Amino acid sequence: MAQIATVRALNIDIKVPTGLFINNEFVPSLDSSEVIQVINPFNEEVLCSVVAASPKDVDAAVAAARKAFQTTWGKNVTGWERARLMNKLADLIERDAQELAVLESLNNGKPVRVARDFDIGDSIQCLRYYAGWADKIAGQTLEVDNKTKFAFTKVEAIGVAGQIIPWNYPINMWSWKVAPALAVGCTIVMKPSELTPLTALKLSELVKEAGFPAGVVNTIPSLGAVGGAALASHNDVDKVAFTGSTITGRKIMAAAAASNLKKVSLELGGKSPHLIFESCDLDQAANWAALGICYNSGKWISCQDCTAGSRVYVQDSIHDKFVELLVSKVKELYIGDGLDEKSAGGPVVNKTQYDRVWGYIESGKSEGAKVVLGGTKRSTKGFFVDPTIFTDVRPDMKIVKEEIFGPVLAVGRFKTEEEAIALANDTTYGLGAGLHSNDANQCMRVSSALEAGTVWINQYNLLSNNVPFGGKKQSGIGRELGSYALEEYTSVKAVHWNFGEKLDWPF
Ligand code: NAD
Repeated sequence: MAQIATVRALNIDIKVPTGLFINNEFVPSLDSSEVIQVINPFNEEVLCSVVAASPKDVDAAVAAARKAFQTTWGKNVTGWERARLMNKLADLIERDAQELAVLESLNNGKPVRVARDFDIGDSIQCLRYYAGWADKIAGQTLEVDNKTKFAFTKVEAIGVAGQIIPWNYPINMWSWKVAPALAVGCTIVMKPSELTPLTALKLSELVKEAGFPAGVVNTIPSLGAVGGAALASHNDVDKVAFTGSTITGRKIMAAAAASNLKKVSLELGGKSPHLIFESCDLDQAANWAALGICYNSGKWISCQDCTAGSRVYVQDSIHDKFVELLVSKVKELYIGDGLDEKSAGGPVVNKTQYDRVWGYIESGKSEGAKVVLGGTKRSTKGFFVDPTIFTDVRPDMKIVKEEIFGPVLAVGRFKTEEEAIALANDTTYGLGAGLHSNDANQCMRVSSALEAGTVWINQYNLLSNNVPFGGKKQSGIGRELGSYALEEYTSVKAVHWNFGEKLDWPF
């Protein structure tokens, strides 16, 4: 098959490499003719096909990463040099931001404007943030006794990192994973989602152009059960970093345990609660709650977002007024073609996801929840799900318990703070949580009580590259972003040094 496909949109011809990126070259599979057909979710047409890596290809990518770790990267490159290359990569992404955004929109459905201004803008910043860390990875000097001995620690790159990412933020998840790993000196085998491999391949071109040595970053599109599983169970991979569903996270952890006990970090699903207390600024709370359920695949609509504020609980006294406001805010959003700069949101990513989300909407209706917005399919092409808001929900309903990964919101009510906290924590997940209140003591009490890796007060879903992100309970293990992510890609070596004590013998 051709190694380059041309994808045309908005008067740009985008050349997409379609091979596996191993040792800084795009190559065919060693032993398979499998391809992945990449679909545009707006019109359901095939954009192009890319090579699907086989387990043997995964071996080749891991071998390339190992060799680079032992020769040109790892201990053989200074932090200064890593930072220089990472900054160069960030510059190249900035140069190509529009082209990358169009490609991201075509493949994922999210608006170009959003991909460019939010996802790519944040990814550039992420690379620059971690480039800043590259020459600041430091250990400690520790006193052992005052006269003859001391110890020091070295923080060392863990080695070859396998990275497996989902389709909801293809460029963003790529940079969240790649940036801290490169900063500390790891080499990488990246497996993008089979649904959205195109921008990871395009970014691989930029990795080479930036001047990274061969084998430092390798990209292997593949089906999860093939390439992802091979990576998670590989005996020469030192760490696997994963973002995706909780069900796959379990498989990754089991594969890591059954192979070489590699270090594991998991960013998994969520069913995040958003509490609206009666003292809050109602208009602002409605804005943030709307953003909470409509974020992604747009700055807004479609909420293919792991931190979706998909359960909103409102204090009784303001419930009806709040719902009215929320519905009016969400109605204002325009959802259409991602290539249209006016669009606030696009379609969901594929047919499977479309059917899944509609299945939840039907279950909400049949379990007796009340639809106050949406809930009706469009008759046109494309995997569109318009925002759907349910009220009158019960804790046992599927739309309240399960992650939907679409713009479907369950709105419940509470009387007291204790009840709100109990409802919020009544989930196996623990990724995000939000609360709106103008009572500072209440903000402090409730944020302490919420079982989540991130709590937003009087806002929702905003992240920053220098602030850690990750889950509690079944939403994950480990942290991305901030200095905490560096720990996921390093191991600490303790060195004990004797500069004076003689060992009497026999001791
Ligand atoms: P998924 O688990 O189906 O797939 C994620 C990745 O894992 C893909 O690259 C896939 O190919 C791969 N994979 C699938 N089966 C595998 C296996 N057996 N072994 C190894 N790899 C395998 O998830 P998805 O549908 O792509 O993404 C949606 C999910 O991701 C949602 O549950 C969402 O909440 C979660 N998510 C979490 C975060 C976070 O930071 N916590 C961020 C984004 C998405």
